[in-house]
Amino acid sequence: MLVLVVEDEVRLADSLCEIMKSNKYNCDAVYDGQDGLYYAQSGIYDVIILDIMLPKLNGFEVVKKLRQSGVNTPVILLTARDEVTDKVRGLDCGADDYLTKPFSTDELLARVRAVTRRQGDVVLDELKFDDLTLNLGNYTLYCGEKSIHLGFKEFEILSLLMQSPKVILPKEDIITKVWGYESDAEDNNVEVYISFLRKKLSFLGSEVTINTVRRIGYHLEVAAK
Ligand code: CA
Repeated sequence: MLVLVVEDEVRLADSLCEIMKSNKYNCDAVYDGQDGLYYAQSGIYDVIILDIMLPKLNGFEVVKKLRQSGVNTPVILLTARDEVTDKVRGLDCGADDYLTKPFSTDELLARVRAVTRRQGDVVLDELKFDDLTLNLGNYTLYCGEKSIHLGFKEFEILSLLMQSPKVILPKEDIITKVWGYESDAEDNNVEVYISFLRKKLSFLGSEVTINTVRRIGYHLEVAAK
């Protein structure tokens, strides 16, 4: 899960990012509305936490322009102390929820879980492909009688692959989804985790392999019997 925080109080933005990261989300922070819109329009984020009072473009304008450009990423607006009109206006603009400052970490995480669950209507607790079942709650990969626990990045990469197993998943998409938009992770970081995953698939005795498409990316394949 990749989170975007748009907040001009740099310390608050960074501490929100730290909170998200310590709860196993990846997070990018930007500090004005224009950057916020630019990043959000990439469409790579799973949720956007957006302050209302921002330089350059305010939060309302950001959501409105974002929705106009066809990006439906859930948005949680941060409002100052209980401004009811702000909340109504925010929801009218296309935001999904709002959070009144100051808020607790628990409240923030609960809202993030709620809006990301709502997206796409279906709540998945596992992904299946051929003889593999990936449990999304405990990061465990099952194949027949065997199972193995995945590290966080292994889990994120394999779930991306299993979501659309036949489609070639570009390396750059893996980097932005798993490491974050601004990370300096490189292709060989991806290769390292792919090799970990391949070892685990062969430990499980799965028919599924991760196929490399040179210079492009990866997809899952079922070995011919
Ligand atoms: Ca602000």
